[in-house]
Amino acid sequence: MIKEKVHILSVTAIKGMNDILPSDVATWQFLEQSAREVFSLYGFSEIRTPIAEKTELFCRSIGETTDIVEKEMYTFNDKSDNSLTLRPEGTAPVMRAFIQNRLYNLDPVSKLYYMGPMFRYERPQKGRYRQFHQLGAEVVGVEDAKIDAQVLAMLHQYFIRIGIDSVSLQVNSLGCPECRPGYRQALIDYLESRLDNLCEECQRRYQTNPLRVLDCKAKGCQAATVDAPSVLEHLCSPCSDHFGQVKDYLEILNIPFEVNSRMVRGLDYYVRTTFELVTDQLGSQNAVAAGGRYDGLVESLGGPSLPGIGFAIGLERLVLMKGEQRITAATPQLFIAALGKEAADRAFVLMSQLRVAGVQAEMDYLGKSLKAQMRRANKLNAAFTLILGEEELNSGQAQLKDMSDSSQSTVTLDSLAEMLIKKLGKMSTSS
Ligand code: ATP
Ligand code: MG
Repeated sequence: MIKEKVHILSVTAIKGMNDILPSDVATWQFLEQSAREVFSLYGFSEIRTPIAEKTELFCRSIGETTDIVEKEMYTFNDKSDNSLTLRPEGTAPVMRAFIQNRLYNLDPVSKLYYMGPMFRYERPQKGRYRQFHQLGAEVVGVEDAKIDAQVLAMLHQYFIRIGIDSVSLQVNSLGCPECRPGYRQALIDYLESRLDNLCEECQRRYQTNPLRVLDCKAKGCQAATVDAPSVLEHLCSPCSDHFGQVKDYLEILNIPFEVNSRMVRGLDYYVRTTFELVTDQLGSQNAVAAGGRYDGLVESLGGPSLPGIGFAIGLERLVLMKGEQRITAATPQLFIAALGKEAADRAFVLMSQLRVAGVQAEMDYLGKSLKAQMRRANKLNAAFTLILGEEELNSGQAQLKDMSDSSQSTVTLDSLAEMLIKKLGKMSTSS
């Protein structure tokens, strides 16, 4: 252990941007690996896009009057004076890549997933950061409600796979360019008569983006909109039929859900089905995943007229929810405690051979006493230890100690790898 001394770091990380430390990484890898497994069952392939895009991409797709574009983007000019933005979300970049690389020529149904950092200039707090990570999936090419239900089934299966069951699925339909304007106007008319009760921000935006008022966290705005007209009562019949089918398919698949007609999404490109997975475990950061349909987006970005649907999961919020159930990292299968230079050299070769043979082995490099080495083996949670001294080098045999029950067995150093693999195999089949 390094002697305690106060070190003052002169350069620290950017506010709201966190290090993910080794003690947390196993949880992250578990969440990511589980996504790869579940998403590939549903036929999704991973896509990776750059972290920065031309600013215009986000303004055109997410919408000029949304929170993200109005105040949350990390936008800067590069040395050639191009305006670039660190991606605040994944759908627009994935659709840009989809169109640019003509992925629609490969298959009439494209199923893509992504994971990685996103950037939003927000007020950092628990569950809300300036660099955060999303795991998202998109399906382009199908309007059929079966796809909406399948995307939700995949999300449901993912949460079962990662062992988080304290979330509930809320669904809504936001209509389409045919019926939304009528609803929008009805909402503006309703809000107009209650302007005095709205917060300053909503008073400013109720005409440009009235749906956001329904989503406002201010108490006054929530109270003022209790009796606001419901979007579901303004759906045109194709949208109403589509939403009915989504609900029917969810029931057929046994996916529990609630309809929340007040749920609007903070991005303009959404139409028809929208959804959120919410929890009561994270205070006001209650959404762990969100998504919906974006049937006009691909065309509006210059691609073919193809419908799409997708979601994004916030990984930091999942890590917070995993809390105490955190996954632990792999620990050494063998720790070799060596006494003296000759034994340390032999241990070094043995350890290297074991690693090549696929056994996670560790040793001491600091010339510590046997007691200190055993303490470290314990701390590292090694499954087995092997003590190597002069006697063991001469006889070519040593005691292999099983740390779970302290039982010992004699092994020949030349066949150590073989023996260990056998024992470890037995351990993993019996546990
Ligand atoms: P919120 O209402 O919490 O601001 P949002 O509607 O802005 O969420 P989306 O853009 O739909 O979120 O992103 C999908 C998911 O990404 C959210 O449900 C959340 O889990 C996560 N997320 C969004 N913003 C952040 C952030 N700043 N920090 C951490 N996670 C975030
Ligand atoms: Mg937000």
